[in-house]
Amino acid sequence: MVPAVAAAATGEREEVGSRSLARRSFATMFVLCVAVMLTAVLAVTAVSFRSYEREAEDYLLTQVQSCASALQEVQGADARCAALQAAPLADARATLVDVDGTVLFDNYADPATLGNHGQRAEIMQARQSGQGALLRRSDTLGRDTLYAAVDLGDGMVLRLAETRTSLASFLGGMWWQLALSLVVIFVLSVFASRLLTHMVVRPLQEIDLARPLENGAYAELQPLLARVDEQRRALEAQNDELQRAVTMRREFTGNVSHEMKTPLQVIGGYAELMEAGMVSAEDVPRFAGLIRQESEQMRLLIDDVLALSRLDESVGSGEPVGLRQVCDRVVERLAPAADAKDVHVTVDCQDVTVVGVPSSVEQMVYNLVDNAIEYSPEGGIVAVQAQAEDSDVLLSVADQGPGIPDELKERVFERFFRVDASRSRNTGGTGLGLAIVKHAAESMGGIVVVQDAPGGGARFRVRIPSAR
Ligand code: ADP
Repeated sequence: MVPAVAAAATGEREEVGSRSLARRSFATMFVLCVAVMLTAVLAVTAVSFRSYEREAEDYLLTQVQSCASALQEVQGADARCAALQAAPLADARATLVDVDGTVLFDNYADPATLGNHGQRAEIMQARQSGQGALLRRSDTLGRDTLYAAVDLGDGMVLRLAETRTSLASFLGGMWWQLALSLVVIFVLSVFASRLLTHMVVRPLQEIDLARPLENGAYAELQPLLARVDEQRRALEAQNDELQRAVTMRREFTGNVSHEMKTPLQVIGGYAELMEAGMVSAEDVPRFAGLIRQESEQMRLLIDDVLALSRLDESVGSGEPVGLRQVCDRVVERLAPAADAKDVHVTVDCQDVTVVGVPSSVEQMVYNLVDNAIEYSPEGGIVAVQAQAEDSDVLLSVADQGPGIPDELKERVFERFFRVDASRSRNTGGTGLGLAIVKHAAESMGGIVVVQDAPGGGARFRVRIPSAR
């Protein structure tokens, strides 16, 4: 069947470049239906033709038998020929064959022109078993002929013959019934194939890819649908993550702008006063100092924002970093700040190694120790420790400051979160220090928590997988 017909029959749009299951199954089923129905019709025809032949054979045998019993009453060849001549034979051809095979009588041909019939199959059969019937081609008539012969008991054989129509002419006789059957076969095949195709294709068309596992499609498709579902979930999760990141970034940008505005407003305000000549000459150094402080605050903020964005970029990369060396360096850098508050910083670090970006590891330790000194009371002690525990490295920074209230212990790691906003800003905090610590720890596969230090104060604990 041409593709266009198949497409029309399946009620389907033709799509360039894609093989259609509906069209293929329709074509296959159509061919199958036609083949099955044609075979059935041919089988029925063959069987009826055969039984029609049988009936004709039986009828001819009965006829020849009754004719033979009439002839057996008559004696002598001439008398039998005369009796045959008078017999009502309708269209049947009657032949009387003598003992030696000579044809004595034939109502279709002159016996004198006929050859010896002793070797004809049906005659030999009659002589052997009393009677015989068969279909063969007649030498005399040149057509398919059914013969039935009976031995008359004295060596003579009577034979009746009837020309038969061939299978072709048998079929030809009912051509219009055959043509009608072909049309019916075609129409039925189209309907059956459409129905079957619909039954096969429909479950596929009804698959809801938004909920791949919630449909009654074929069991064979389950692995594929399970995979689709898996990918859909992964995509959804990815989308959610992306959304979250976008929201966070937006909030972050808003916060950064807000944080920048404050020092800029202060700087602008002081500059305006000085410009208007409202600051006396001896106050100028104080105002200049305030402006410097605010610009320093802005620089710190920009440094922290840059540190965070560097951390974003460096996730997953890194090299072995010795924590003891990092702690020593940080404490050295912060010594002036500690001395200024008379804070004593103790370092107790084992020789442990983590995998990370060296500058990020240092920034993480720096922020923790910086905060500890910042929030320590005058003359307080800050304890920095690093040790191996199982396959992890534990870094702990403890101080004797005010500590962090339980309900805020998680929130202090949020960007721009400050326990006491006004105090923190005055101490030069950006509110990003602990967010950087958390980000750095996580980028190394670790976590950070804050607890109460034994003697009061805060104790930050970072757990990172060891480099070994
Ligand atoms: P900041 O730059 O304001 O210090 P951080 O992110 O480093 O920002 O800290 C967030 C908040 O957590 C701080 O504002 C402070 O209130 C609190 N905090 C941080 N470290 C300590 C500490 N060692 N002791 C007490 N509070 C702390």
